[in-house]
Amino acid sequence: MILLYDKKYACPNCKSNFTTKKPLSSKLRVEKVESDNHKIYKGVNPYHYEINICPHCGYAFGENANKRLNIQKTEKIIQYLLNIKDFTRLAGERTHEDGLRTLKLGLYIAQLIEEPYYVKAGLSLKIAWLYREQGNIEGEMSYLNQSYDNYKKCYINEDFEAIGYKRYFMLYTLAELSRRLNYYEDAKRWYAELFAERNVPRITMNAARDLWIEFKEERKSTVHFETQKGA
Ligand SMILES: [Zn+2]
Repeated sequence: MILLYDKKYACPNCKSNFTTKKPLSSKLRVEKVESDNHKIYKGVNPYHYEINICPHCGYAFGENANKRLNIQKTEKIIQYLLNIKDFTRLAGERTHEDGLRTLKLGLYIAQLIEEPYYVKAGLSLKIAWLYREQGNIEGEMSYLNQSYDNYKKCYINEDFEAIGYKRYFMLYTLAELSRRLNYYEDAKRWYAELFAERNVPRITMNAARDLWIEFKEERKSTVHFETQKGA
């Protein structure tokens, strides 16, 4: 059964044409969707193939990330291009480690060329998900934190509705990430904003209410436990 196909791209940096493997969307099987929208796939994991690595120069880009380069930006990535190694095979089938590496390369370039916050937030979140799939909590939390930070900056500074993010979805994501990061005061604020929002789909509102109640209850019991311990 064919699960991957060759997709053609032109590298935004060296302009070479190349093909890279992409999953066939009709063959993707979602087993479970988690509360932060992480999809767990059976078989091919499309997160592994999100970032393209040019096999000629090593530049990392995706559908939303790092696509537009200009001279000023090109100067910022010279050191990256000089130092990247062992990348030509990344146009083929990828392992979980390859997936992690390619997303990190994409994020690294996004930071170098100062891509919008939503781009960096999305890449960080996917890196966190791949760490979660491995059971690496430290890695997951570190990138969830980066993602949260970038989503906050996006919410404050960017016209996120123009790029297709609904306001309630932004608030849900901010609430969800702060809950996962155990930032109680932040979570309280984002959930309050979300609950005051109109036009939130009922399924999203119900899910958010349950998650917030659960988080509050868990917190009460830990605070109680710590007080008991200290007494
Ligand atoms: Zn290239």
